[in-house]
Amino acid sequence: MPDYDVDLFVIGAGSGGVRAARIAAEHGARVIIAEQDRVGGTCVIRGCVPKKLLVYASRYAEDFVDAAGYGWSVAAPSFHWPTLIANKDLEIARLERAYITTLERVGARLVKGRAVLEDAHTVRLGDGAKLRAKYVLIATGAHVSMGPEIPGIRHVISSNEAFHLSELPKSILIQGGGYIAIEFAGIFSRLGSEVTLLYRGENILRGFDDDVREHLRLEMETRGIKVVTGKTVESVEWSAEGYFSTLSDGTILETDRVMFAIGRWPNAAGFGLEAAEVKLKENGGIAVDEFSQTSVPNIYAVGDVTDRVNLTPVAVREGHAFADTVFGGKPTPVDHENVPTAVFSEPEVGVIGLTEAKACERLPKVDIYKTTFRPMKATLAGRDTRSFMKLVVDGTTDRVVGCHIVGPGASEMIQLVGIAVKMHATKADFDATMAVHPTAAEELVTMRDKAASYGPKTKIS
Ligand SMILES: Cc1cc2nc3c(=O)[nH]c(=O)nc-3n(C[C@H](O)[C@H](O)[C@H](O)COP(=O)(O)OP(=O)(O)OC[C@H]3O[C@@H](n4cnc5c(N)ncnc54)[C@H](O)[C@@H]3O)c2cc1C
Repeated sequence: MPDYDVDLFVIGAGSGGVRAARIAAEHGARVIIAEQDRVGGTCVIRGCVPKKLLVYASRYAEDFVDAAGYGWSVAAPSFHWPTLIANKDLEIARLERAYITTLERVGARLVKGRAVLEDAHTVRLGDGAKLRAKYVLIATGAHVSMGPEIPGIRHVISSNEAFHLSELPKSILIQGGGYIAIEFAGIFSRLGSEVTLLYRGENILRGFDDDVREHLRLEMETRGIKVVTGKTVESVEWSAEGYFSTLSDGTILETDRVMFAIGRWPNAAGFGLEAAEVKLKENGGIAVDEFSQTSVPNIYAVGDVTDRVNLTPVAVREGHAFADTVFGGKPTPVDHENVPTAVFSEPEVGVIGLTEAKACERLPKVDIYKTTFRPMKATLAGRDTRSFMKLVVDGTTDRVVGCHIVGPGASEMIQLVGIAVKMHATKADFDATMAVHPTAAEELVTMRDKAASYGPKTKIS
């Protein structure tokens, strides 16, 4: 290929880009990958990984308290935020090095700096050098959206800054109702901050099953998080005493910090997509087909920049499938149905498939099975908490089309339930599986009584 300097130029060394670069190089392609920030992208540097480390840190708070019911006496524990942040940063640096080593090992060349497309095959690097690539993969991710430019928005932090606060805020107002807002509300609350979670809609976790939304909200409130819905932050003022947020109903709330986690926006502007004539969707993401090919045949796009299912494993799968399709001789479409996902709240949420409402929209007959129960560990601990599980079943085929769990271990459980759902397991298959006792997960295979049954557009029972 004398015309091209490389077979593949990847823009963005995050979850999707790194996987695609690695697999393409393993298939024998000459690969360059450009990164304007730190290698690893959102997930490793300012997303899933640091978030989960903070979740782990915060969970000790309840463990110390609960241990007393099991006979332990623990000296009053104390918590040091700067130690947590420093240790978290060390781990992130280690992971970043591991990503770089992986790229080096397979012979993919990493260039630091912002890459800009000049046309469909030409990429300009940060130092002005230009390269011709046979294929281009856009894996530029997404960025935090802070919403409309309200007065005082400069005082508001996002999840990016939350990972680097010099001290734990005594109180924090978090605006947002999605998983990132909820997870940070839990982290700060368990570590000792007084937390108000403010969401403009009717209830948190829009798009999740209504029972899950209700159950989690109650659990969060029981744990001391103040959940306020139907309001927004209209302005934020700062003084030496703190931050004063004026809400849409005129209330003024004083807190130590204000954080917004209200959405993310695809990184699809400012690096030449127009020059290359790559088409965007209405929601700002790059339009692609099931092979992640854009409107320009030699340009592909994976991950959050395509705004399909914005999760790390999905970006990784899309990157891998792209490399197999283009360089492995194995056309591989990506199936975005039935993606299991978790919210690392307290208690955790794990879900896959259709909600009760969606199932009723799509299927002529739907059966619902659900249960709430006190997790065994909470008994001696004396903790006031309940777990929730729901199975949504196609009443015609008996297939389990949705599973919704709120409770300890929900994220681990849903990964495995995901296999059964992907394999089209029926409710009878669940019932035929022997329970593991005593566990919470056994409830998934022992729910016998229908909580509801729907016929065409009607609730039968
Ligand atoms: C706080 C938070 C928590 C999250 N938690 C989870 C979770 O628990 N589980 C989960 O599955 N997902 C989670 N996510 C989502 C997950 O991080 C993303 O879905 C995933 O990182 C997307 O990968 P990507 O490859 O599309 O983009 P990214 O990982 O964002 O990588 C894109 C990279 O491209 C670089 N870049 C952009 N433009 C250019 C350019 N022109 N030139 C060079 N480089 C460029 C960026 O600097 C970035 O490093 C979380 C996200 C956040 C913000």
